[in-house]
Amino acid sequence: MNYGFIIDNRKCIGCHACTVACKAEHNVPLGVNRTWVKYIEKGTYPHTRRLFAVHRCNHCADAPCVEICPVTALYSRPDGIVDFNNDRCIGCKACTQACPYDALYIDPETHTAAKCNYCSHRVEVGIEPACVIVCPVHAIISGDMDAPDTEIAQLLAREQVQVRKPEKNTRPKLFYIEGDEVTLTPTLAPQNSDYMWSSQSQPVGHGRKSLNGQMELHTGDGSLLHTLLEKPESLLSAPQPARHRPLATLLESARRVYDTPSEGVMWGWEVPAYIWTKAVAAGTVLVPFVAKSFGLSAPTPTTFSTGVLLGLLFLGLTGALLVRDLDRPERFLSVLLRPQWRSWLVRGAYTITSYGAFLGLWLIGEIGGLRSLQSLLHWPLIVLASFTAIYTAFLFAQAKGRDFWQSPGLVLHMLGHAFVAGSALLFLLSFPLPAMAGDRLLLARVLFGSLIFSLAVLAFELTTPHATTDAHSAARAITRGLFAPLFWGGVVGAGLILPLLLLVSGSLFLITLAALLSLAGMFVNEHIWVRAPQLIPLS
Ligand code: SF4
Repeated sequence: MNYGFIIDNRKCIGCHACTVACKAEHNVPLGVNRTWVKYIEKGTYPHTRRLFAVHRCNHCADAPCVEICPVTALYSRPDGIVDFNNDRCIGCKACTQACPYDALYIDPETHTAAKCNYCSHRVEVGIEPACVIVCPVHAIISGDMDAPDTEIAQLLAREQVQVRKPEKNTRPKLFYIEGDEVTLTPTLAPQNSDYMWSSQSQPVGHGRKSLNGQMELHTGDGSLLHTLLEKPESLLSAPQPARHRPLATLLESARRVYDTPSEGVMWGWEVPAYIWTKAVAAGTVLVPFVAKSFGLSAPTPTTFSTGVLLGLLFLGLTGALLVRDLDRPERFLSVLLRPQWRSWLVRGAYTITSYGAFLGLWLIGEIGGLRSLQSLLHWPLIVLASFTAIYTAFLFAQAKGRDFWQSPGLVLHMLGHAFVAGSALLFLLSFPLPAMAGDRLLLARVLFGSLIFSLAVLAFELTTPHATTDAHSAARAITRGLFAPLFWGGVVGAGLILPLLLLVSGSLFLITLAALLSLAGMFVNEHIWVRAPQLIPLS
């Protein structure tokens, strides 16, 4: 048994009956959809054509949403359907980043993830999904692809079919007959600023909650988004309505003329904030412990205990931010109690929990004067602090929908930031804690080295060729588009180059300034890295 769908574009008339039937069948709230129809117009007048793209969950055989879900709220059934259980969902939104097809949304009423589940409740009693039954032209074909006598199996054997984003290796089971490339690849048909129902421009639920000053970027007004990502100067002038543009311009390429509103940026400010606090929690321990291990210097006992205390404090803040970002925060313990071990959210949760426990033990050793216990914990703490610093890079790599996050440089990026954060914060604390004053030179040197390292990693991440158009677009948005002023001014200028110059000055005041700027630049860097890829449309 292996259920799949075919959308036969030779028949589809774009009537939206499937969308409406699905909404009625599953009581889907306003503003979100389990299946929807996008209209694309293509060609040059008078040779134009309107194409329809029916989108929904692809019930992938290798579903990245299932892999990333920390609590098995998303799961693959033996019959090939990818289903979900909203009683388990914690609202972490990782699945919405992992799905390359934009299939998932956060239900504004239950605050849990939802999507097409192939009407599993109907299939189980032998009835076809609601969208299949309602389609007036039989453009949606469902059934068991492994049974040779089914219509779907025979069509798959006979017709040429296409899938969306085959390069993602998710093995989707939603096939299109005559699926035109412009209907399957979101970036080939930019959204327009005015089309049918585009006045429904406000996301709902989590999308609405997570928006801030960039709200217009996540609305149906995608052409504005596209322009801003590429040309920030266009912020100064309002986009021209389609009716004011020359006809030839309008008709020369594929245009998206009807779509549903975007769900918005799903990972808001909490995620860069938690990456930042996590870097501090790891770095304040890594700096003195690594320095001692490699014989760079022997930090004072106060630096060790301050590092460990800061580690615990910022680990607590990291946990609080992680829980705050959940749409169902009361279920956060499920990550530990109902773990799905392939998810890096689970591996990360166990890493930071163990790290916190080991830091606590080290402190007990400090209070009780148990030096042998502390020496025993030395290397395990270095290993746990390093994993705490870098595990998010693996989580981001599991977010297959965001191509820019697939960079191999992300591990080094996060490790470098841990050393920047640790050395900068410990340096700043050497003023209220004069017992640490003897370590200032060491801390300034580590800060200098880690800033150089971070600069090199940044250059690597942005200049190495990007494997996909989406990754390239995100990199362009960072270096030449919407984020360029913040990136060049806040990250490279004020967060890296200026601190490096201040550090070589030798002045205590200027080095203090360098430490403050490094910490601020790091936060801006995380903000851009988390936000920019989320502005690239997935459908
Ligand atoms: Fe459906 Fe997306 Fe999960 Fe694939 S990754 S099964 S399309 S929700």
